[in-house]
Amino acid sequence: MPTLLWFRRDLRVHDHPALLEAAREAAADGDGRVLPLFVLDPAVWDPAGPVRRAYLLRSLAALRADLGGTLLVRAGDPSAVVPAVAADSGAGSVHISADFGPYGSARDLRVEAGLAGDGRRLVRTGSPYAVAPGRVTKDDGTAFRVYTPFFKAWLRHGWRAPAPDPDPAPTWWSPRDGDPLPDEPDLGDLVLPPAGEAAAYARWDAFRATGLAAYADDRNRPDLPSTSALGHHLKWGEIHPRTLLAELGDTPGEEVFRKELAWREFYADVLAQRPESARHSLDERFVAMTWDAGTAADEALEAWAAGRTGYPFVDAGMRQLRAEGWMHNRLRMVVASFLVKDLHLPWQRGARHFLHWLRDGDLASNSHGWQWTAGSGTDAAPYHRIFNPVTQGLRFDPDGDYVRRYVPELRHLPGAAAHEPWDAADGYAHGYPPRLVDHAVERTVALARLDAVKGDPARRTG
Ligand code: FAD
Repeated sequence: MPTLLWFRRDLRVHDHPALLEAAREAAADGDGRVLPLFVLDPAVWDPAGPVRRAYLLRSLAALRADLGGTLLVRAGDPSAVVPAVAADSGAGSVHISADFGPYGSARDLRVEAGLAGDGRRLVRTGSPYAVAPGRVTKDDGTAFRVYTPFFKAWLRHGWRAPAPDPDPAPTWWSPRDGDPLPDEPDLGDLVLPPAGEAAAYARWDAFRATGLAAYADDRNRPDLPSTSALGHHLKWGEIHPRTLLAELGDTPGEEVFRKELAWREFYADVLAQRPESARHSLDERFVAMTWDAGTAADEALEAWAAGRTGYPFVDAGMRQLRAEGWMHNRLRMVVASFLVKDLHLPWQRGARHFLHWLRDGDLASNSHGWQWTAGSGTDAAPYHRIFNPVTQGLRFDPDGDYVRRYVPELRHLPGAAAHEPWDAADGYAHGYPPRLVDHAVERTVALARLDAVKGDPARRTG
């Protein structure tokens, strides 16, 4: 009988422990056939924005080609679809890479129960992480709440070598036609990078050849192609982080890159320990925080989302998001700080907007990236860190190139002048909006509100 491999966030065929296990079982059974399945789950598909939907469809097309056209795609609730496909095909077991997200882990338990009712097994092998969430703990077995000690323990724990390709290779097989794939959403002018495993390896090779050496110095520079742009490939498991880690040495660029990968692992770990932190502040004192609400707050959110706050660096970041479905990490921090500390809106409103547009949108990294900036998350005491949107721009986009790339109304301003149109006689000549708020004033308001909920430790600015 065939074995079933249910793909989810592991849309690749290399370095794939669950695939290896499915192939091993199929070979041991003497049959050798593996049925590759993907389920378009409305609970995941419906809330995904157009960018991630389009990207997923392209990634599935690439995977299907890699599997010789056999990928079976079915739409529906996995707890009904997976047991039904297993029963139809006669598969005795269903292989998966384990999921540790709040929805995914509960879904898998339901699927497992459905399969067990029919005498079939759900087999979890590997995960989307180098070290599965929950494995790295303090000496007393409890979970880490702070990144640096987690990182050290994660390094000490280590990870397995990449999984080899199965030998013998499985016979990819599909019993019948799947459901039709939905039409790709209209992305307008938004341009997506190529999807699929081959594209992920090509991106990694290109970054190793041209970006990694300067990563330690340049990774905060949004005007340069300074980061790997692997986030969407990692999100869908088109490449496994262990594949990357196995090829990293000890140069400064490689060390910093390893630390960044560890942030992804840390946030997945925190979310697995505290699933409610996807939507609620980890620091419960934030329940008492005063946020702005009402029509003016809604209008401020709209201006922020449209990249029309009147702060060039912030607006360039928000427009990059709409142009590419991606935003440089430095900008993610700056625009998030602006929403929470200058516009006084709850981080969840910004996180929702990000998840709608980001091609690498990931619940753990997004919710905790926002909470890091809001000061309600894992970090020890950074909540008085308030980014100055002008000095951040002058420091990390020193020649104004990034601003001019995304904000056409400021293209006439040379060099760093693009960051301060208010200082140029013709700064507003091409329709750039005036500043929505006064950063110096709002900073004071934010600090007063933060002090009210959290006391008054040392203040920090960026
Ligand atoms: P690189 O700098 O090349 O880093 C390599 C990889 O390391 C990334 O692809 C990512 O997987 C991981 N990584 C790097 N920095 C971080 C970090 N701070 N936290 C977690 N993982 C990290 N990352 C997401 O993958 N999905 C999100 O939805 C997301 N939302 C964010 C929201 C906010 C408010 C902030 C401040 C950060 C967010 N990040 C998110 C983290 C980070 O901005 C992106 O991972 C990074 O910009 C992706 O670009 P890259 O692949 O070129 O990164």
